[in-house]
Amino acid sequence: MVQIYSQIRQNIKSILKKTLESEEITSQEALELLNVTGKEFRALQATADEICFKKKQNIVTFVINRNINFTNICQKGCKFCSFSVPIASKEGFLLTIEEVRKKVQEAQINGCSEVCIQGGIHPKLKFDFYLDILKTVKKVNPEIHIHAFSPQEIYYMSKLSGNNIEDTLKILKKSGLDSIPGTAAEILVDKIRKIICPNKVSTSEWINIISIAHNLGIPTTSTIMYGHIEELEDRIKHLEIIRNIQKETHGFTEFVPLPFVKEKPMLARLKDFPLRLSYGMADLKLFCVARLFFNNYIDNLQCSWVKLGPKFAQVSLNYGVNDFSGTLMEENISKSAGAEFGEYLSPDEIIKIIKSAGKRPAQRNTLYNIVKYF
Ligand code: SF4
Repeated sequence: MVQIYSQIRQNIKSILKKTLESEEITSQEALELLNVTGKEFRALQATADEICFKKKQNIVTFVINRNINFTNICQKGCKFCSFSVPIASKEGFLLTIEEVRKKVQEAQINGCSEVCIQGGIHPKLKFDFYLDILKTVKKVNPEIHIHAFSPQEIYYMSKLSGNNIEDTLKILKKSGLDSIPGTAAEILVDKIRKIICPNKVSTSEWINIISIAHNLGIPTTSTIMYGHIEELEDRIKHLEIIRNIQKETHGFTEFVPLPFVKEKPMLARLKDFPLRLSYGMADLKLFCVARLFFNNYIDNLQCSWVKLGPKFAQVSLNYGVNDFSGTLMEENISKSAGAEFGEYLSPDEIIKIIKSAGKRPAQRNTLYNIVKYF
């Protein structure tokens, strides 16, 4: 490690050393790290890898899960989204409760410990439909962990039912909801949200829903969708919001960086807002900076193989990442945006990828309890 810190600027060296001593880094320091190159980049990598090793040794986890997207009909019109269609579209679908039940049964046959359920904001749904989904899953198998409904969906359910957010979440929890995906976060900076997702919950509404969930004992993940029109400063503001929530609630189980998939979304064609796409090294720097920034607060950093591709996701395991996400079984959202890496990786394939990175694979459940080592 001493060697790796030679020939780099003193201020970068101090920031890296500070994190190794478990000291918190500031947003300004995190921003400086997002800009490093060359030897400083290699020192950043070594530091993130070392911190990850201290926490997780050589273990990389994954979960056997199934995604269920119950509708692609959505009225929100987010500009980065190619998954959703208007209600009149011939391509629109809405699963029946019976179809949801069959998918859960398939998940069970495939050994899934979790179903991840999300959908568009369909203008004709009733609150009871969401509750029926939860009850149906638990009827198939009360042990399956239900990881479902983004903060945007919860906000919508609150409007549909006339309940406030807290009561909506209490009803969902009672009906079987175990945890919530920290999606719909995109970038938690309103000036960016107004362009990429003007009809979505605001930053403060997202924070409010997530914090209430945590306070009710409903854990959530946390995500960032980056590499579109935001600046590096916006990414750091986002990380700061996540860290501040975690300091208060301790309710985040993981942080998942999600690069924007540019192939199809309208956002890629907005002339007034040039894309600042993230290419390999910038992705890796964000993983490393997230590992350092969340040191002491969020232990698990996940790569999304469906967005990065299994090969690049494997590389990220040396850049502070300790979780390979899940088998998924089906994946509609990234695929619709033009991602080309498939929708299913078997546990055997994931195990091989992790092992050939020189790491020890372990199957986990949603809450990061280890089920089995390989
Ligand atoms: S990202 Fe979600 S809320 Fe936005 S348009 Fe797509 S499905 Fe609807």
